[in-house]
Amino acid sequence: MKYDVVVVGAGPAGSSVAKRCAQHSLSVLVAEKRQEVGVYKRCGEGLSNNAVKRLGLKIPKNCIRQKIRGAHIYAPNGKCVEIEYKGSEGYVLERKMFDKWLAEEAVRAGATIRAKTNAVELLKDGRKISGILASTMEGMESIEANVVVAADGVESEMARKAGLYKAKNPMLVDSGFQYEMCGIDIEPNVIELFVGNEIASRGYCWIFPKGKDVANVGVGILGNSTQTAKHYLDRFIESKENLRKGSVLEVNAGCVPVGGFLKNMVSNGLVAVGDAANQVNPLHGGGIAESITAGIIAGNVIKKAHDKRDFTARILSEYNNIWWKERGNSLKKVEKVREMFEKMSDEKMNRLADVLQGEDLYDLAHGKNIIKLAKILVKYKAKAFF
Ligand SMILES: Cc1cc2nc3c(=O)[nH]c(=O)nc-3n(C[C@H](O)[C@H](O)[C@H](O)COP(=O)(O)OP(=O)(O)OC[C@H]3O[C@@H](n4cnc5c(N)ncnc54)[C@H](O)[C@@H]3O)c2cc1C
Repeated sequence: MKYDVVVVGAGPAGSSVAKRCAQHSLSVLVAEKRQEVGVYKRCGEGLSNNAVKRLGLKIPKNCIRQKIRGAHIYAPNGKCVEIEYKGSEGYVLERKMFDKWLAEEAVRAGATIRAKTNAVELLKDGRKISGILASTMEGMESIEANVVVAADGVESEMARKAGLYKAKNPMLVDSGFQYEMCGIDIEPNVIELFVGNEIASRGYCWIFPKGKDVANVGVGILGNSTQTAKHYLDRFIESKENLRKGSVLEVNAGCVPVGGFLKNMVSNGLVAVGDAANQVNPLHGGGIAESITAGIIAGNVIKKAHDKRDFTARILSEYNNIWWKERGNSLKKVEKVREMFEKMSDEKMNRLADVLQGEDLYDLAHGKNIIKLAKILVKYKAKAFF
């Protein structure tokens, strides 16, 4: 059977594009290489309520482990800047349930999902991508489609094989390492972030609570650091009395693209979404909401291509235009903020913690009010920070 759309990967990006295409009455198959959607997780599982509202998600209770009322951000010297999520709490999810729920929503809209179906090659018809070759439980299978969606995550082979990029720039990829821990003392409704080059080389450590004594405790560091992410995390945990005594229930590791947005995310017969297209907030590394947003945009553009019976890059490139207008331009500003932080010494970060309020940091993470922030820094004679 030939499908209108074959999606590679049933993460948030893949399930979202599949759902949107199915809602447009297109025939959709999602190939997922793992034997179970959502397992294992590679994520701190944080999601802001602003994103939930923007996307109109009605997340079932069983996908939410903890509601969050704010964040505490600790400078290298321990000074805490507090962010209160005024009337708009955030969430720490249970990704194993959340990813499955997104996949179920796609199936309910009419898509088909096949676990243990590993896309190993792109099929081509002349200069157009025309499907995938997949390794399945029954053997190798060619699956044809008018459009292939590369939603295969940060290590995306499909986007690379389609020629969207050769290799990721290691300076724009963070290494993440995380333990889900139990038996620790934490504030259950506040996420905690610890910045500083000693703590986490050009990155940060986090505690994302999943209950009163359970949390994702992790670290993200720049990919070219001399020490491993595990080294930084173990040292961080050892330095905290409230964490040291905890048990490790789960170990997660993975990469996070933190910049390098692609001008072009399409080719003839192919669209890349989510981590496969580096669509992650470069400052905090959050990619769940960005993946879902991109999936929805891509689904709408694929429907238009379907109506025109034209699946060339020229038609599909409307996805580039919409994504850059809706997300890319503001994420590009956040990338600049990240570059600025990367150059800062611990001493400068300590001084910054003295002049910035929690809401300023919140704005920085969303690429907002950068001019207002520049004025604050000038007022406090903090220009030397940059
Ligand atoms: C340590 C860490 C912590 C993070 N914390 C957060 C956080 O707190 N909040 C947040 O918003 N984001 C976080 N992120 C980022 C977030 O996890 C990703 O941005 C998000 O999962 C991207 O969704 P996706 O659908 O693009 O990719 P993925 O979720 O990676 O899904 C890709 C899917 O494709 C499948 N696949 C891959 N190759 C193939 C193939 N050849 N054939 C078939 N299937 C294939 C994979 O099995 C997977 O299911 C974190 C990431 C890391 C590594």
